[in-house]
Amino acid sequence: MKFNLAIDGPSAAGKSTIANSLASKYHLIHLDTGAMYRAVAYQAALLSLDPSDEEAMADIAKNLPLEMTADGRVLLDQIDISDKIRNETISWMASVLSKHKKVRECLVALQQKIAGKGGYVLDGRDIGTVVLPDAELKIFLTASSKARTRRRLLEYQAKGLKVSEEEIAADIIKRDQQDSTRTNSPLKPAADAIIIDTSDMSIEEVIAKISSYIDERFVKDHD
Ligand code: C5P
Repeated sequence: MKFNLAIDGPSAAGKSTIANSLASKYHLIHLDTGAMYRAVAYQAALLSLDPSDEEAMADIAKNLPLEMTADGRVLLDQIDISDKIRNETISWMASVLSKHKKVRECLVALQQKIAGKGGYVLDGRDIGTVVLPDAELKIFLTASSKARTRRRLLEYQAKGLKVSEEEIAADIIKRDQQDSTRTNSPLKPAADAIIIDTSDMSIEEVIAKISSYIDERFVKDHD
């Protein structure tokens, strides 16, 4: 069965890693919607534009030569920018520009078009509430800011990046605050989302838990 899976949650809750694993396990295609906001931020940074300028950001979003490949790479004008969009500057700029209605309308329409045929796992902040309100399964991942800081620190260390724990914690708190208090599509669980607190769970445990919902709802009926 071609179901869509929506995964939302705050930054560093493990959404992307989990979405990736579930995508390969259930033959779904993973679309990291955060990477699309990050790509707009990256283009804005290249052009030295202010992310709080709605018209300028909407203009970028509308004309972005963006390609999201099925294997999770982000191409801008055919250049792979996947690693360049993962830093604190781009994270913050993405959070600022994602407040704009015109930017969201443009990226949401693109996301809905991509996932329209079903068979996708989308992760973001507004997937269950706005992008795919009819998704067959909605998961909202949370974790304490301490647990999320620890995970992001390990991720950066693995990449050889030097960022202090304090900087990461401050970024996470500031971005969550901005993402959950904005007027347009604030970060919040959909009314029918299953909320999973992953603070004390390993990635494998989270995957096993979500897999049990998928197997129960979709796989067993179709064996
Ligand atoms: O998920 P990620 O941390 O890569 O997202 C970067 C930023 O993009 C978030 O802080 C959020 O402001 C924005 N975003 C959003 N809606 C989404 C995905 C990401 O507003 N669906």
